[in-house]
Amino acid sequence: MDYILAPPSNAVKLFNEKDLSNWTTRSGDKAGWEAKDGIMHVVPGKGDVMTKERFTDFYLHLEWMEPDMPDAKGQAKGNSGVFLQGRYEIQVLDSYGIPVPGKGDCGAVYNQYATLVNACKPPLQWQAYDIVFRAPRMGADGKLENARVTAFQNGMVIHNNIILEGLTGGPIEDKVLEPGPLLLQDHGNLIKYRNIWLVELPLKGSDQY
Ligand code: MG
Repeated sequence: MDYILAPPSNAVKLFNEKDLSNWTTRSGDKAGWEAKDGIMHVVPGKGDVMTKERFTDFYLHLEWMEPDMPDAKGQAKGNSGVFLQGRYEIQVLDSYGIPVPGKGDCGAVYNQYATLVNACKPPLQWQAYDIVFRAPRMGADGKLENARVTAFQNGMVIHNNIILEGLTGGPIEDKVLEPGPLLLQDHGNLIKYRNIWLVELPLKGSDQY
């Protein structure tokens, strides 16, 4: 398959390209989305899916394709979402051509941060997210440090080491100091995903930056 970026040798492949046997629903039941020809398809109504594995700090890569919905608008136009640790949504939406993206548009940390630029491709083209995630942790002063995100969409920087305000809407829970899954959102639209992998980042030394 002609991926935008092939997984490096130390990547954890989150999607085995055959089935969703290493994914579940939010409640831990069998995931109802479909896998076909190496592509994961949202099946509207089957609910969100999340990995069985849990992660702390990581570099995540995934590719997705928006459906062509010329008559749909705003949040109804190709909506899905990438929930880091199941708690922080990076929006997936067809925001192609919007001059100044808002906090609900594609690539936004939902309702917290709009993207620096509109990096969206038109629908029916594969797009990529590359996201570096630093999980929340307790600082040396005993205060909670919120999560940080640096993200690229289609090779363009959309977030530069932002400090999240906290959870976004609809988190799996609020245990922010525990590892969490990758969760993909069923928002009723026919999004496709492929080439989903991450590289876990070392925690040792990560308190120094
Ligand atoms: Mg969404």
